[in-house]
Amino acid sequence: MVDYPRFIVDCVLGHIAKKLRIMGFDTEFGLDAGDDFLIDKSMNEQKLLVTRDVGLYLKLSKSGRNGLLLHNDYEVENLVFILKSCDIKHIDPVPNVNTRCTICNGTLTKIDKTMATSLIPEKIYKHISTVYKCSKYSKIYWDGTHVENINMLLDNINNLLGQ
Ligand SMILES: [Zn+2]
Repeated sequence: MVDYPRFIVDCVLGHIAKKLRIMGFDTEFGLDAGDDFLIDKSMNEQKLLVTRDVGLYLKLSKSGRNGLLLHNDYEVENLVFILKSCDIKHIDPVPNVNTRCTICNGTLTKIDKTMATSLIPEKIYKHISTVYKCSKYSKIYWDGTHVENINMLLDNINNLLGQ
């Protein structure tokens, strides 16, 4: 397994893929592709395949590859399972240095908010200090309740990882 894991997430697990990207993991998602393609890709690119598809998981195992089969319906349990499997003990609050764009997996850069005036609703603009821009399609992110909620989720996850 690579030191800092990278993932390919199967197409029914969008919420998991988004959370992994926010946490800072390079996560491929939304590939409309068959099992063999996904297996080859995970092998060639050293990415861990995360799936709920037992058939896909068995094929992967037969080909001698590591993958993760999620058994659970609960997001927190699934994320803890993934992180524990990769021997990760802690996730830094987000946005952290590795946080990626939830939409496209691009990396984020901190920018001055005055550079994004036209993209941020006026009501929000005066309350925020830090703005991040996606490297690929220039989507803008800012700190706010959404980020606070995710960091609460991460507190919970970090506690579970410590157990
Ligand atoms: Zn993006």
